Amino acid sequence: MNEIGLKITALKAEIPADVCLVAVSKTKPASAISDAYEVGQRVFGENKVQELVDKYEQLPKDIEWHLIGHLQTNKVKYIAPFVALIHAVDSLKLLVEINQQAKKNNRIIDCLLQFRIAQEETKFGLTFEEAEQILQSREFIEMENVRIVGLMGMASFVGDEVQISDEFRNLNNLFHVIKSHYFKYNTDFTILSMGMSGDYKIAIAEGSNMIRVGSSLFGNR
Ligand SMILES: *Cc1c(COP(=O)(O)O)cnc(C)c1O
Repeated sequence: MNEIGLKITALKAEIPADVCLVAVSKTKPASAISDAYEVGQRVFGENKVQELVDKYEQLPKDIEWHLIGHLQTNKVKYIAPFVALIHAVDSLKLLVEINQQAKKNNRIIDCLLQFRIAQEETKFGLTFEEAEQILQSREFIEMENVRIVGLMGMASFVGDEVQISDEFRNLNNLFHVIKSHYFKYNTDFTILSMGMSGDYKIAIAEGSNMIRVGSSLFGNR
C-alpha cells in the first residue's frame, strides 16, 4: 500500500465509525488524491475554488468534494454543479447566491454555517446573533435549493488543550441550541464539522462527527 493510503487506513481505524473523515488535499497533486482514493477514501476537502474545479475535472466522478475554505459570492457558480458540501457559509448574501446557483443547476446544495469559536480575531465565521438573523430571515426561510445540514468551526491555533476543548464544546452547545430552535423536526441537520490534524482528537471527544485532516495525511504544505 502507498504511504498516504497507509495513513488514511490508520486514521480511519483510530476514529469512531460515525465520524466522517474529510481528507484535505489542498495544494497537493491529483496523484496524492488517487493514492487516498485507492484505499477507499471518497471525501476530499479543498479551500480554493479554482483548485477544486481542476481536481474535480481530473479525478473520478464518485468523489465527494467539500469546499472547506472561505467562499466568495462571485465564485459559487463554478462549484455549484458538483460540490457536495460547503463548510464555511458565513453570510446571508453568500447563501442567497448558493441558492440561486443551485437552482440553476437543478440541485439542492448542502451547507454548514461556520461559527467563530476561536479567541483569535482573524477567523471567519458567524456569531450566534448573526446566525439567528440569517435563520429567521424571510429570504432564508423561502430558499428551496440550499439545505443547512450542520455547523463548522475552527479552534484557536494554540497549545492550550483546555482552551481548544472549551471552544469545541462551545460549538457543540451551539449545535444543539440551533438544532432545537430551528431544525427540531429536520433530520438533515446532523453534521458538526470540527477538528484538523492538530486537534481532531479533542474535537471528537467534544462531539465532532466530521473531521477535516490534511497535513497529517498528505504531509506539510
Ligand atoms: C487546511 C484546512 C484544514 C486541514 O488542516 P491540517 O492542519 O492540514 O489538517 C482543515 N480545515 C480548514 C478550513 C482548512 O483550511
